[in-house]
Amino acid sequence: DGQGPVYKRVLLKISGEALMGGLAYGIDPEMVDRVAGEIESVSKAGTEVCLVIGGGNIFRGISAAAAGMERATGDYMGMLATVMNSLAMQSALERRNIQTRVLSALPIAAVCEPYIRRRAMRHMEKGRVVIFAAGTGNPFFTTDTAAALRASEMGCDALLKATKVDGVYDADPMKVPTATRYERLSYMDVLTRDLKVMDASAISLARENEIPILVFSIHNNGAFAEVVHARGRYTIIT
Ligand code: UDP
Repeated sequence: DGQGPVYKRVLLKISGEALMGGLAYGIDPEMVDRVAGEIESVSKAGTEVCLVIGGGNIFRGISAAAAGMERATGDYMGMLATVMNSLAMQSALERRNIQTRVLSALPIAAVCEPYIRRRAMRHMEKGRVVIFAAGTGNPFFTTDTAAALRASEMGCDALLKATKVDGVYDADPMKVPTATRYERLSYMDVLTRDLKVMDASAISLARENEIPILVFSIHNNGAFAEVVHARGRYTIIT
């Protein structure tokens, strides 16, 4: 009837910056709680939700490398930052009585479960929210690539990329008032026009596994639920 959710299982990618809210650095508890609310409404409506959270609000490997640290070391620090963000999100979800598991690509046994694909599947089937921490577990990758990888492994119907704006534009809408939003793009459009959506390895992986990418704004209240119902404003990449 067009009323129910369109997607049965989705992966939501949130950047670390999104969790900063109004702060200049770190985690804004109010923002984390708002995102938890968005996830709660989607999960309660019957869509299985998993998450990949970035770490850019705390640490970026590339900036550490620029300052003279070995790139791989900086990247491991970046991955650890995503674990902190994941724990903050888990705690906000659990305050809302949403069962949540953090599965880390880098095993940190005292803190969370290690990432085991079949275990993650089982959690999802039980309706638990699964947070994939520590990216891919490998340096020289990003959490965007981790999002495309986990979405492929979990058999997600869609990868939802939360950004500051409500889709992909032909110019930066924050700077160019005449910038127009694309309703639909192909993976190839994104790659060949070098549109800043996700990095190329993430786009290629989604393309290979035919997972649509939906770009939307996490700053609009209720937007996550809207997109899962194929309503509201977003750009779909197929
Ligand atoms: N990172 C990594 N491998 C991964 C995912 C992340 O090395 O598979 C590191 C990398 O240094 C990156 C940092 O973790 O800069 C934070 O992740 P990202 O930049 O993707 O976070 P976001 O921009 O989404 O906040």
